[in-house]
Amino acid sequence: MTEYDAIIVGAGVIGLSTAYHIKRQNPDSKILVIDKFSAAGQGSTAKSMSAFRCLFSSPINYVLSDSSVDFYNYVQTELGVDLKLFFIGYLWLLGEDDFAEMAPILKKLAAKSLKYREYEAEELAKPLGLNICLRDDEEAELMGLKDVYKGIFIPKAGIVDADCVVKFYEEEFLRLGGEIRYGVKVQDLIVEACKPIGIAGEPFFWQESRISGIKTDSGIIKAKKTILASGAWIPQLLDSVGIECFIKPKKRQVFAVEAKSPLLRHLLFTEGFNPAGCLPFTILPKPRVLIRPFPTERVFWLSYADDFPRAFKLEDDPQPEKGFYQYGIYQVLVKYFPQFQDCRPYSAFAGLYEINTLDGHPVVFEEKDLIAVGGASGSGIMKADAIGRIAAALYDGEDYAILYGDRKFRVSDLSIKERRVEPEKLQI
Ligand SMILES: Cc1cc2nc3c(=O)[nH]c(=O)nc-3n(C[C@H](O)[C@H](O)[C@H](O)COP(=O)(O)OP(=O)(O)OC[C@H]3O[C@@H](n4cnc5c(N)ncnc54)[C@H](O)[C@@H]3O)c2cc1C
Repeated sequence: MTEYDAIIVGAGVIGLSTAYHIKRQNPDSKILVIDKFSAAGQGSTAKSMSAFRCLFSSPINYVLSDSSVDFYNYVQTELGVDLKLFFIGYLWLLGEDDFAEMAPILKKLAAKSLKYREYEAEELAKPLGLNICLRDDEEAELMGLKDVYKGIFIPKAGIVDADCVVKFYEEEFLRLGGEIRYGVKVQDLIVEACKPIGIAGEPFFWQESRISGIKTDSGIIKAKKTILASGAWIPQLLDSVGIECFIKPKKRQVFAVEAKSPLLRHLLFTEGFNPAGCLPFTILPKPRVLIRPFPTERVFWLSYADDFPRAFKLEDDPQPEKGFYQYGIYQVLVKYFPQFQDCRPYSAFAGLYEINTLDGHPVVFEEKDLIAVGGASGSGIMKADAIGRIAAALYDGEDYAILYGDRKFRVSDLSIKERRVEPEKLQI
């Protein structure tokens, strides 16, 4: 039986970025990627809003995102691969209390070269048709909605096409001689004694043992290293061998509304923020409903990342809930943007966040010849390049990964045992 140098389970954005960087650094090694779906990026990657921002309070989150975005921009502008990346910016609308919380963080980041622009609410009201004053609205008061006090615009942020990013990594990995098998489902991890003695029932607890490969619905595949990049499904495989990864799945939903009316078209194509001449990715004041413009499709994607009491639940095909839009997102949205009055979504989809319950940062660690890489907690597209490089450095036994732009990153900072991350204060 062929033994691979590495098998990577999961052809999502993180699995393929990892595969590409490992193969790039080890051109002679035999690397296999497998996925249960029939094509790349059909898991959570396909369900993403595919937006990015280089604005995080945690230096680790910041460098993961900033270096990945720089790499995608390089791929698009220097290598000529269209990733449909547009720097449309993020517009974060804030109530007075939110702003008081955010101002010191922004000041600190500005000292480290973050560029942003502060808007008074009144400056945004007219160009966006934004309702900034909800004080006299009884329903808004009942819902606890706040007046808009300021807007913060972050230019190094925007949208990209996750599918194009995935295709780029897939093509490059194949071009370098990597192998991919789609439509293969991993059922279990194989545990074997490091030094087998040939007795039935091995490995016994007194033997040193390791993960030596995977059992799939089309047979056993052995490898020197097994790399789990199976997103929200990582714990499903790890639980069975008693390895904790602190990743839990949570459903997230996106609703697509067409910019049909002249008022909505005007909002979608608001000039003055970015070269694309469209509304930036916009975050409403708490509870932070998200508006992701999709100018080429003339559509808005609307979402909200609910926490309590949304269950941690692993589902193969999570479904959007009609009431989540109708009684949730819509009710908040229409108070700030009355242009959405009576708008119903023409389509919707749902996927899973793979949430790291320790601190919301990704995890990359090795145990018993198994490497786990994932837990990007809802920001895997914007961080995938850096995460892939860190996983590749771990595979190579390096202490440091070199991220795009020659930025040095200590690999163990994302491990479980020697983890060193600061809590993120700018979560959406
Ligand atoms: C609604 C929503 C909006 C989001 N918006 C954004 C955003 O704007 N920006 C951003 O950066 N991120 C966003 N994300 C997060 C982002 O999509 C994820 O962080 C990222 O896609 C994770 O990639 P992954 O490769 O780890 O997982 P996945 O893409 O889920 O890939 C895992 C792969 O593993 C395969 N797999 C699992 N189990 C097995 C098995 N047993 N056998 C074989 N194959 C298996 C699956 O088929 C899948 O293809 C969003 C996510 C959701 C759900």
